[in-house]
Formats: sequence, C-alpha cells, structure tokens
Amino acid sequence: MNYAMALDYQNCINCKACEVACKEENGVQLGADKQRIWVGVTEGTTFGKPYVNLYPSQCNQCLDAPCVSVCPTNASHIIDGGIVMVDPTKCILCKGCMEACPYDARFVDDTVVAVDKCTFCNQRIDEYGTTACQATCPTKVRLFGDLDDEEGDLVKLLKTRKFFFQKESEGTVPKLFYLVPEDENFLIQTVSKNTKIHTWDEIKPYYDQVKAKRSQEWKKS
Ligand code: SF4
Ligand code: SF4
Ligand code: SF4
Repeated sequence: MNYAMALDYQNCINCKACEVACKEENGVQLGADKQRIWVGVTEGTTFGKPYVNLYPSQCNQCLDAPCVSVCPTNASHIIDGGIVMVDPTKCILCKGCMEACPYDARFVDDTVVAVDKCTFCNQRIDEYGTTACQATCPTKVRLFGDLDDEEGDLVKLLKTRKFFFQKESEGTVPKLFYLVPEDENFLIQTVSKNTKIHTWDEIKPYYDQVKAKRSQEWKKS
C-alpha cells in the first residue's frame, strides 16, 4: 500500500468544513492558529478582473521525507502505507522537522507538547476507508486512496486526469496530487507556466522506484 490523495482544487469553495472535521477527528484545539490542514489563498488580477485561487493542502506524506531524516529521536517515522507519523512521547521539540519541511506542514501542538501534522487520519482508515476531510467536503475536492491499487478509485481518477505537485523541485516526492483544472481560463489562472504537468503512466514507475527504496524503513503500524 502507498496511501495518497488527489485534490480537485477547482471545486474548493473555502467553506473550511475540512478544517473543522480534521480538528474534531484528531483532537486539535478548535481555534488553534496552526493545524493539520488548511486552504492556501492567493489573489491577483487578469485583464483587470480580480480573482482568488484556493489550494487546499496538508502534509504531502512525502516518499522521500526530509522531516524524517532530520529527526534525532526517531519521533518522526513512516509506517506501512507510507504515512509519516510523529510519536509525541519521543519528540523533544527541537523543531528540526519543521525547518526541514518545505510545505510548512508541521506545528507545535500545545496539548501534547510535541510536533503534530496530518496523518491521513490513520486511526480511522481501517474502519471508514477514508479521511475526515474527504468525508466532510461538500464539493468532493479530495479523494484518498492507494497508489498501488490499480482497481481503486484514486488510480482510476489519476489515469483520466493530469496533475501537478506543489513545490516539486524540493525533491521530496510528495503524494498530494493536484488535478489540472478542466476549465482553460482557470488553468491559466491557477497553474504557473513553469509547473510540470504529469500523467499517471509517466509518474507511476518513478513513484514505484522511490517506494521500493524507502519502504525498507517503513515500520509496522
Ligand atoms: Fe514531512 Fe513536510 Fe513532507 Fe509532510 S510535507 S512528509 S511534514 S516534509
Ligand atoms: Fe523529531 Fe520532535 Fe525534533 Fe521534530 S521536533 S525533529 S519530531 S524530535
Ligand atoms: Fe474546500 Fe472542501 Fe475544505 Fe470546503 S471542505 S474548504 S470545499 S476542501
């Protein structure tokens, strides 16, 4: 298994239901500034018309995760399925992982006095098969699934839609797949010219290769 998520971000309406559901599911303080999941907002104008872009985001569950490599106590580790976890009992709050993460996906959770981040709701996958954010989103932005399951909904979707990654050049091999918008104007507005666009057939061998190398370090959950 190699868990990942596709984001059809063109459908995001910034309602923040996913953020509330995530906090409820994972015990993150309501009202906390930093949290496991967020909607990035950028504003601009095209031909004099103002626009707002919305990029729902969270930890990318990177296959080559620098946050894990730098952790001096193995508090940050990866479990079967390729989910990056933090053991709060081992975290000494050195914040090396926070500095190493290019996505600013980690924060200090004051309730457990340790670093925290999205875990793809690992505790509920077996029972519900998906994350709280996917289950709550009214416009079906997110699709959680297994990159190794050719018959699963995630792979079927990625075979039909092109996608890109945020900050791909950081080389962390991220697993949030942003689906290229079908609307041409929206595509121009939200995807910069330098962004690499990928297809499933082209990217799958590379992800398999990195997984084969890094999964030897995955711990049984
Ligand atoms: Fe680590 Fe950041 Fe990648 Fe998440 S997004 S796995 S916290 S480097
Ligand atoms: Fe590891 Fe905690 Fe330090 Fe992060 S803050 S690198 S999880 S010990
Ligand atoms: Fe966007 Fe869905 Fe989150 Fe609402 S629940 S902010 S539509 S991703």
